[in-house]
Amino acid sequence: MTKEELMRKAIELSKENVANGGGPFGAVIAKDGEIIATGVNRVTALCDPTAHAEVSAIRAATSQLGTFDLSGYEIYTSCEPCPMCLGAIYWARLDKMYYGNNKTDAKNIGFDDSFIYDELELKPADRKLPSEILLHKEALKAFEAWSQKTDKVVY
Ligand SMILES: [Zn+2]
Repeated sequence: MTKEELMRKAIELSKENVANGGGPFGAVIAKDGEIIATGVNRVTALCDPTAHAEVSAIRAATSQLGTFDLSGYEIYTSCEPCPMCLGAIYWARLDKMYYGNNKTDAKNIGFDDSFIYDELELKPADRKLPSEILLHKEALKAFEAWSQKTDKVVY
């Protein structure tokens, strides 16, 4: 499939999801023009605020392939991702992202994630989410154990 055909599939998924009661978002993960996995927004159906189309597609792909590393794969998403999904795309090490709608289009229909992008610019103490460091020395014990472990799977 061409990149346009792959994007058209992501868009089709987003439209089908609206008809099925979900949000207007779909995503496809592909390699060499072949679809490996798809995802749609399932936030309300699963009562899962992290079940965005991109995260759902990444979970489906990694589960199917048995790896946490999607190097060599591309993601086609019907809309420019929110900060969570963009982070997930980086963590999954996808090679390239294509998107259809942009975040302004999403904002115009009530999906405004710009406040999260704005929050990222601020120091933790200045964010809307009250945050404070707690039990730092105790928490560091797990990091020390990780640093000393010789047979870990680095990711
Ligand atoms: Zn998202």
